[in-house]
Amino acid sequence: MKRVLITGAAGFLGSHLCDRFIKEGYHVIGMDNLLTGSLSNIEHLFPLEQFEFHHHDITKYVHVPGELDYILHFASPASPIDYLKMPIQTMKVGALGTHNMLGVAKAKNARILVASTSEVYGDPLIHPQVEEYWGNVNPIGPRGCYDEAKRFLEAITTAYRTYHKVETRIIRIFNTYGPRMRVNDGRVLPAFFSQAIRGEGLTVFGDGSQTRAFCYVDDLVEGIYRLLLSDYHLPVNIGNPDEITIKEFGEEVLKLVGNPKSKLIYKDLPKDDPKKRRPHIAKAQEILGWNPTVDREEGLKRTYEYFKTVVKVPETV
Ligand code: UDP
Repeated sequence: MKRVLITGAAGFLGSHLCDRFIKEGYHVIGMDNLLTGSLSNIEHLFPLEQFEFHHHDITKYVHVPGELDYILHFASPASPIDYLKMPIQTMKVGALGTHNMLGVAKAKNARILVASTSEVYGDPLIHPQVEEYWGNVNPIGPRGCYDEAKRFLEAITTAYRTYHKVETRIIRIFNTYGPRMRVNDGRVLPAFFSQAIRGEGLTVFGDGSQTRAFCYVDDLVEGIYRLLLSDYHLPVNIGNPDEITIKEFGEEVLKLVGNPKSKLIYKDLPKDDPKKRRPHIAKAQEILGWNPTVDREEGLKRTYEYFKTVVKVPETV
């Protein structure tokens, strides 16, 4: 049985990866310090012999007994509100944590896939974003702690590949959504769904003309799986190129949830909020044969089913 170590295993993406690799017949070793992850995302795996969990902070020395075939390094706070609240932990896990995981990969002779992000492109000056673009990042802005940590992650991963000959894969993840996103993580989708379910105003930042392109989590996981098993070591964008303004996105959530008490309300735009974002995915299509398969209508329906079960509606008196 092949053995895979997944960091950030109790998080949104990490927990879906655990499920996928269990399904593929791997022995999965999940690791998380539970700073932003939650055991409720993986508690269904605890009875399985195929799964083990280590409550550990990977910025400290990482010890994993036994052999490893693969490492998926997904540990990090990942929403702007989280990394604004925890800038130092964000930098430490992206830098020291990544260094430790590369060290484990080298010691175990394991292939490692590291999670990078569209944030390495910053507030992009070219559109859609191709992998060759170097980005437009403010190192001292509110997003700097995350963006620069992920840029360091790419650089040190490249150094371990060229100097130590570690087998590495780098994915640049664009906005992704689905069940198990944390209700209060501050990102636009959990915010809009919980506000619409509670009958509150949906907080559109700025005039809502900024764009994002949202990928359903199962599609992202498929892209990660294919990239891990491919022989391509340069960064690959994975995301759904179906771009939408945040205002239109709010209108779609309003329509789906159908709560007459909700409407769009407008708040200040946070500093350095990227104006446009859409992945160029020709590499993923050509190298991995990957394409997104779940459209937003279907993905939002599935995600709504999840949020209905976890959003608490205050009782009216
Ligand atoms: N946003 C919003 N209302 C919210 C939360 C976010 O209008 O309650 C906007 C935010 O300003 C950004 C977009 O939605 O333009 C996506 O934000 P998110 O935090 O989900 O992720 P980002 O793509 O900015 O990392």
